[in-house]
Amino acid sequence: MIVDNIKEIYNEINETCSKVNRDPSEVTLIAVSKTKPYTDVEKALESGCVDYGENKVQELDQKYDLLPKDINWHMIGHLQRNKVKYLVGKAKMIHSVDSLRLANQIEKEYAKKDMIAMVLIEVNMAGEESKFGIKPDETESLIREISTLEHVKVCGLMTIAPYTLEPEENRKYFKGLRELSVDIASKNIDNVSMDELSMGMSGDYNVAIEEGSTMIRVGTKIFGERNYNV
Ligand SMILES: *Cc1c(COP(=O)(O)O)cnc(C)c1O
Repeated sequence: MIVDNIKEIYNEINETCSKVNRDPSEVTLIAVSKTKPYTDVEKALESGCVDYGENKVQELDQKYDLLPKDINWHMIGHLQRNKVKYLVGKAKMIHSVDSLRLANQIEKEYAKKDMIAMVLIEVNMAGEESKFGIKPDETESLIREISTLEHVKVCGLMTIAPYTLEPEENRKYFKGLRELSVDIASKNIDNVSMDELSMGMSGDYNVAIEEGSTMIRVGTKIFGERNYNV
C-alpha cells in the first residue's frame, strides 16, 4: 500500500513535469511520516524514497534513532528555540525558519558542533492568522540578517498553503512564492541560495510542481489519514 502510493506519486511527478517541461529530478518527494510509526517508514523505504518529514523534534529524534542513518530527515514544523539542540546532526534541512531569534539559536547550537544548518525561510503567503511564517514583504530583510550567520545557510523558501479541496485556489500562493524567490535570488546576497522551493502537500502538489516546487511534502496520500487523538 505505502509503496504503491509512493510509486503513484512518482508517476504523477513525471507526468506533471513533462507537461510543464521540467526535469523530474528537480523535484524531491518528502514523505511526511508525522504521527505514523517508524515501521511505516521502513515500508516506505522499499520504494526507494529516502526523504522524510517530521513536524516535531522529539518524533524526528525517535525515528532517527530507530531507522537507517542514510535517511534524509526534514524538520517541517514550527521549531521552538529550546529544541534546536536536539536537531543538530540529524536534520538534513530545517524548513521552518521564520525569525531572527530562531536563526540565532540555530547558529549557536550548530556552531558548538562546528556544523552548518541548511534552512529554508517559511513564508506565510496567504496571510493566515493561524499559520507561522514571515510576511512576504519582510522576507528579504530577514534573509539579509540571517545571511551573516556563519553556521546557517539559507537554501530557499517554504510555504504552507491553506487547506482547500480545490488545488487551483492555491496556485497564486505557489506562484507568489516562486516570484519572491526569483526576486531575492536577483539580489545575489552572500551565503544565500534560492535553489529550493518547498511547496505542495497531498491536496495540491501537482499545481505546486507546475509552479516550480523543488520539494513536495506529502503525508496523507502516502500514509493515510492521521489520528491525533492516540
Ligand atoms: C503535515 C504536513 C504536511 C503533509 O500534509 P498532507 O496534507 O498530509 O500531505 C506537509 N507540510 C507540513 C509543514 C506539514 O505539517
